[in-house]
Amino acid sequence: MSYLFESFKGWKSYCEEKNLSLPESVIEYEVDQKNGERDKIQAGLLQAYDVMRDAVKTGLEEEMTSRSGMINNGAKKVYNHPLSVLSPEFQKLISRALAAKEVNSCMGRVVAAPTAGASGILPGTLVTAQEIHGLTDEQIIEGLLVGAGIALIIEEKASLAGAVGGCQAETGSAAAMAAGAIVYCLGGNTDQIFNAVAVTIQCMLGLVCDPVAGLVEVPCVVRNASAAAISFSSAQIALANVSGVIPVDECVEAMGEVGASMESRYKETAMGGLAATLTGQAISERVLIKDIEILPDDELEE
Ligand code: SF4
Repeated sequence: MSYLFESFKGWKSYCEEKNLSLPESVIEYEVDQKNGERDKIQAGLLQAYDVMRDAVKTGLEEEMTSRSGMINNGAKKVYNHPLSVLSPEFQKLISRALAAKEVNSCMGRVVAAPTAGASGILPGTLVTAQEIHGLTDEQIIEGLLVGAGIALIIEEKASLAGAVGGCQAETGSAAAMAAGAIVYCLGGNTDQIFNAVAVTIQCMLGLVCDPVAGLVEVPCVVRNASAAAISFSSAQIALANVSGVIPVDECVEAMGEVGASMESRYKETAMGGLAATLTGQAISERVLIKDIEILPDDELEE
């Protein structure tokens, strides 16, 4: 089996020729490329989904304060706020995405899907979609496989790393994976799934990576929430067959082109954007001083 995940067009043709579903083709690819066993791959995905669910629960139930002080139990505050601005489901979606990402910022256990910086998006969206639509774990696992195929193509044609392509590559890719997974789980066809990816990328295009003090906290945590919301809006648009007009492969190419043209200060160097604001710089200095203060005496003397 040659490398399958070079383009969405190629992935679709392959599945049509072989009469395979999208998730089946990803499993087949994993078995072929990594000498994996189908049962083990599925068990591993279920385990990954359990870690995602745990991260949501942990973020909503346990103390979540980061050493820098920038993260301070935000998910719980959103979850428990008496006023829902849209609906209780939307409130839960946002707080779950925040919760799982806060766990990452507080050094807890998450699934880096596709990166730790974007680790709240799939948990927030999938747990919420499962709850609203009564999806089984098996359906969610298939959705995760679809998301994996999407990520493989983005990685091939653009990038999944903030240091290479800006935040569009991290939270944008995670949102695209989630949108595709949601549409798949809700019975959408391949064109609708890929259109959801295209629409999501269009919404996330150009987002820079500018973490304050170089910590994956601000704006990373809130971006996980907004990306989760975009996943749902894209899924809704795609299921109604409203075209993103620009085909998905071209959207990914645009993401790669935008990422390549971004200046390095917008690629995780903490030298541009929010990291370069007065407040961002003051926080960076404070964090640095804190780090020096906790160094052992012998290291300080060197
Ligand atoms: S701002 Fe940078 S570090 Fe933070 S989530 Fe986005 S890509 Fe990752």
